[in-house]
Amino acid sequence: MEYYSKQINKLIEELSILPGIGAKSAQRLAFHILNMPKEQVRGLSQALLSARENVCYCDSCYTLTDSELCPICKNPSRNSHMIMVVENPRDLVAYEKTQKYEGVYHVLHGAISPMLGIGPGDIKLKELMNRLQGEVEEVIIATNSSLEGETTAMYISKLIKPTGIKVSKIASGVPVGGDLEYIDEMTLFRALEGRVEL
Ligand code: ZN
Repeated sequence: MEYYSKQINKLIEELSILPGIGAKSAQRLAFHILNMPKEQVRGLSQALLSARENVCYCDSCYTLTDSELCPICKNPSRNSHMIMVVENPRDLVAYEKTQKYEGVYHVLHGAISPMLGIGPGDIKLKELMNRLQGEVEEVIIATNSSLEGETTAMYISKLIKPTGIKVSKIASGVPVGGDLEYIDEMTLFRALEGRVEL
């Protein structure tokens, strides 16, 4: 038996696709939306659509942006000879918030995980290697301290070593398995300052 009308059911169904949104939360959100002023709902749906349609990968660092190059890669005062490798755009933002890093980034969009069947070809590793053809002096690996992050760090350092480019890894102090985005800025700054050469 259907408790709600078709349109309401459809809305609940679409909302429950989102991660962390179970059936109950989806219902709650649906009724909240139905009570919102129409203008606000229009704004929300337009923001969803326009973000999805216009946001793409930066041509250089592969973070999410809405132009060819992200603001960091476009900024001439950033040191493009220093590349920090992170797993996702949220980690990049965490480092940006420290306001202490002047280099550029490379976003892998994941980490190597044999358990989940994610191999080197499934993340932006080839793209990183292509960038190293330029004048890069140091690659700082800032993957998470999870098993996947460590595996990825090791893999990358093995790939880069033969090129003669300096490879370093952010220092410990970042809790094991901790998502970078939840770590405070001071801890991240210390981890960056105390990076060790591999
Ligand atoms: Zn970029």
